[in-house]
Amino acid sequence: MPVTLAGYTVEPLVDVEGAFFPLAIVFPDVPLESWEPYRDRFPDTFAREDMLYTRVTCYLIRGHGRTVLVDAGIGAGPDPLFGHQRGRLLQELAQRGLAPGDIDTVILTHLHPDHIGWAAQSGQPTFPRARYLVHARELETFQREDVRAAMHQIAPGYLDRCLDPLQQAGVLATVDDDTEIAPGLHLTISPGHTPGMMRVVLRGTPGSLWLVADTFTHPAQVTEPTWCSAFDMDRSQAIATRFEVLGRAHEEDALVMASHFPTIPGRIRQENGSFRWEPISD
Ligand SMILES: [Zn+2]
Repeated sequence: MPVTLAGYTVEPLVDVEGAFFPLAIVFPDVPLESWEPYRDRFPDTFAREDMLYTRVTCYLIRGHGRTVLVDAGIGAGPDPLFGHQRGRLLQELAQRGLAPGDIDTVILTHLHPDHIGWAAQSGQPTFPRARYLVHARELETFQREDVRAAMHQIAPGYLDRCLDPLQQAGVLATVDDDTEIAPGLHLTISPGHTPGMMRVVLRGTPGSLWLVADTFTHPAQVTEPTWCSAFDMDRSQAIATRFEVLGRAHEEDALVMASHFPTIPGRIRQENGSFRWEPISD
């Protein structure tokens, strides 16, 4: 559902969804029985007892004369990591009357393969008029040979296909510190899952909306911030960031959306000393 805030409309666009990842692969350190309390609470995040139901969500932010895309999904595929499916992002945009050339900014929250899939195609930026933004620390990390080699094991060649053409075309800009890229539209580093992951924060009067990317992979981690996904590159930093985000988003009573959660925004509630993810009901 679209959210209207700070003069913007924010719409989640699901690039792909389905049963792709066994719990034991994504959360190898969490015993299956520990998921029990969360099965009833978040039924649409499980495909089966031992299998997650995963969404890969991008966001369209329109307002103040800007058309901004947050993240670029899995891409044209077929993607073996995601059941050989093809991403739907361009169709989702077309359904809203938008061509790739209408996007003026693409925020890449981080450089994992399910967030930059549509960034480039056939050696050219997919969004021909857009400036692409990534955190400087993220770009530095994903240019390292050891990181590229590790990523190649997971998704062969995706950085060559999706990232390098952006640099060759001169459309990739880096963000260093917390940056306001448009009125009320902020980028803030949210490290741990990857070293330079960013969250996108819209600040209105009143209210705020946080797009926290993969700070949390599953809503159970709101209650269990120490649960790490296998894709958290720095686990202790990821845990620290989860606690920081929970504290601040709760304090602000922010609406929170995460790339792999169900697409309904939620709030962070606190009860009996722990946090809880509560999707909004209206
Ligand atoms: Zn992801």
